[in-house]
Formats: sequence, C-alpha cells, structure tokens
Amino acid sequence: MSDRRDFLKASLLGASAFALSGTLPAQGAPVSRTKAASAARVISTWDFGVAANQAAWAVLSKGGHALDAVEQGVQVPEADLKNHSVGRAGYPDRDGHVSLDASIMDADGNCGAVAALEHIAHPISVARRVMERTPHVLLVGEGALQFAIEQGFKKENLLTPESEQAWKEWLKTAHYEPSINSEVHDYGKTGLPGGAHNHDTIGMLAIDDQGRLAGACTTSGMAWKMRGRVGDSPIIGAGLYVDGEVGGATSTGVGEEVIRNAGSFLVVELMRQGRSPQEACQEAVMRIVKRRREASKTLQVGFLAMNRHGEVGAYAIQHGFSYAICDAKKQDGLVPSQSVYTTSFT
Ligand code: ASP
Repeated sequence: MSDRRDFLKASLLGASAFALSGTLPAQGAPVSRTKAASAARVISTWDFGVAANQAAWAVLSKGGHALDAVEQGVQVPEADLKNHSVGRAGYPDRDGHVSLDASIMDADGNCGAVAALEHIAHPISVARRVMERTPHVLLVGEGALQFAIEQGFKKENLLTPESEQAWKEWLKTAHYEPSINSEVHDYGKTGLPGGAHNHDTIGMLAIDDQGRLAGACTTSGMAWKMRGRVGDSPIIGAGLYVDGEVGGATSTGVGEEVIRNAGSFLVVELMRQGRSPQEACQEAVMRIVKRRREASKTLQVGFLAMNRHGEVGAYAIQHGFSYAICDAKKQDGLVPSQSVYTTSFT
C-alpha cells in the first residue's frame, strides 16, 4: 500500500516538474501544477468548452461547489443553438427525434444519468435530480421524461429549423457513417449538410477550492443514430468517472468504443496505479487502438483527465481533439491534445 502511495507521489512530483502551476502548456503537452496553487480548476472537451468553463468558473471563483460548477458549465453548450451535438438544437436520430444523454458524478461516488431523453433542454440537470432525488443511477427514454416533468422541467420541442433542415438533407441519401470529428474548426470536411460535425460531447471535470472533484458529460450523441441508441456519455465508467481519492476522466468520440473498454473508469484506475493523467489517457486510447487497429484509423476517441491535485492530461486517436482549461490565472485556455495520428485523417 505504502509502495503504491510512494509510486503515486513520485509520479505526480515528476509530472509537476515540467510545467508550472496554472501555466498553459506548450501545444499538446500535459498540464501539471504544484499543490501550492489555488485549488480551483475546470477543464472540458473541445473548443466550446471555453465558454462552458467560464460559466463553471463563475461558480468556482466564488468558492462554490465543483458539482454546481460542472452542472452550470455544461448547460452553456446545452443551450447553444449553434451547437448541434449537445442539448437543444442537437441533430436528431434517423427518425427525426432529438434524444439526449447526460451524466454527472461527484467525488464520493454519487452519480446520476439520463439516456435517450427527449424534449428536455437540460438533460444534465435531470441527471443531477436522478442522483439526488431517486435511489437510482440511470433513467432512460419515456421514464426519464416522465421523471423530468414530475420534477418541473418544461417539455419542449428541441428540433430547431436548422437541425431539421440538416436531417432532411441527410435523408436524401440516409447514408450513416459516424464522422471522426477530428478537425473541430474545419467545417466542410465532414460531408454533412453545412459541413457540420455529427457528434461531439462536452465532458467537464472540476476541482473546487475545497479540493472537491466533480464531473459532467452531456451530448445529443451521434447524429442520425438509430432510435434508442445510447453512447458512452450517460454510462458511468464509460463517458465519465470520478473518484475523490484519485481524480476524474471523461471522453468524447465514438461512444461504442469507449463503452467496450469502460474508458473513463480505466483512465481513473490507471491514475490510481500511479500513472499521470496524461499517461492514463494515452494508455486508454492505446487499448482501443490495439483492439481495433484497422477501424481506429477512421474513428475518433478522446479522453480528458484531471487528478485530485488538479493535474491534467488528454489524448486522442485522431489529430484535432482539443480541451479548454480555466483556473485563477487564465479563464480561456484552449489546448490541442496529443494524438496517435498526428495528421488529419481527412
Ligand atoms: N461520445 C458521444 C457518443 O458516442 C459522441 C461524441 O462525443 O462525439 O454519443
């Protein structure tokens, strides 16, 4: 036991030696810091994480709880009408239904999730209610909607005219192929109507001033997916996992691959064994690549992790994954992740 603790300590000290507290790393390098820094920090997937982090920071900077921070943070992309992969305005399934997946977890193993939830704009808040007001972890479909309505959430049509138009365009061929979403800024390469991406998830991890960790993950999943398809995001241990003794992890990309490998749980367990967040994300990605060597050339999975000291790592299969980072020093950091393939697939 003490050997393991020593190993963990040595590894964390090693990791913190090459980056100063709160300083953004060189491109693609993992972020570390010493314990002396202000404890609060929030990270999240993709470039839309920058705005989400700022909403989370509004909570953290006032000494608020990490759980409130992640809930309020991810509500930003959930409400963003320009974001077609999370919340309202998400692209629908192949039958035209917008169905949302979300999960939330705290440092003590409390967690809640909803899957295939329709008509509710903020699935993350329903997930939190599942966690706090039911004896269950995951509610799905009709039952999740019924619970949300009982809890006072408003039933709405989440399919915007723009998303409906994109779906109708897709119906002309109805060709389904999860795009690898490797170039988040490079619209036009995906072959989707308007060049839009057909999936991307916000996964967020926060540590507050008291050192409390929490995570949240929310998505509309793969555009044009089969009705009833659920990805990794609402599956605790796949799209999100937090353990207060170790740290947290979240994922984005082709959810089926993450579920097959219990991805976020794996990242946290690797950190428990002494890996840095960066090493843990890399190992989890390589497990997927080793199992799916051919397929991995055309799919994207990215992991993002933070340990209980606020040290951060990220790794993806494809070039182009990025994560947003926000703390007392800088609120709008955006860091390109390292990846297996270093050039764009497209
Ligand atoms: N992981 C999400 C899902 O499979 C989609 C994504 O992050 O791109 O539903």
